[in-house]
Amino acid sequence: MSIRHPIIAGNWKMNKTIREAQDYAGRLLGLLGETTEIDVVVCAPFTALSTLKDELEESVIHIGAQDLSFAGNGAYTGEISAAMLVDTACTYVIIGHSERRVILRETDEEIAKKVKAALKAGLTPILCVGENLAQREESKAFAIVRSQVEKDLPDLSPADLKRVVIAYEPIWAIGTGKSATSADAQEMCTMIRSTLAGIAGAVADEVNILYGGSVNADTIVELMAQPDVDGALVGGASLDPEGFAKLVLNA
Ligand code: PGA
Repeated sequence: MSIRHPIIAGNWKMNKTIREAQDYAGRLLGLLGETTEIDVVVCAPFTALSTLKDELEESVIHIGAQDLSFAGNGAYTGEISAAMLVDTACTYVIIGHSERRVILRETDEEIAKKVKAALKAGLTPILCVGENLAQREESKAFAIVRSQVEKDLPDLSPADLKRVVIAYEPIWAIGTGKSATSADAQEMCTMIRSTLAGIAGAVADEVNILYGGSVNADTIVELMAQPDVDGALVGGASLDPEGFAKLVLNA
């Protein structure tokens, strides 16, 4: 039996107003009831977090953000700190999503600092890693993902590493409807776990590793059957509460 508790995290990306977030939270809660077999997380834009705090703080649904600053506080115009996220009842934060790596040129060095800032504040980082299509076609996917894991999680104690969640998200599968096969996802998640074992030993078995990239209520079933896939990070299919609840209940 797995020692890991599965996680399904929705990533709304840059979607939903405050009113839409409020409506979503009420509907999702109604649909999921007291489900606790899976940790359900909703990662919302910063502007919706305080509304989600009002709606979900006392519920089984966890609140997540999609980024944070690596700095503690002070003169960083436009940034949001880990303490501010904790203040809105966030317990999770996505870090290093490929859209930020590619569009906003986020580096592994910045991402590593963000992981540390999240851990220091008691947040659970969901660190995203994954190769692009050219890298996969050139058989470089394993090397790329291994290097991201090593660079983004430097000198963490086993106790801290245990608190990190990793999401393997091949860039070619994000928002494209072209999901990796469950066998591909399992193969990469196994490689990630063995990379973690190389860094921190046996604690690697306790780290949750998710798959992300065009996951839907049908594909989640086979993904969850893979021994090293501990859940999913879900974009498009998390935007509608009915569809997301169905996905969670199928997982
Ligand atoms: P998708 O997005 O499910 O829409 O492919 C996943 C993600 O980017 O986290």
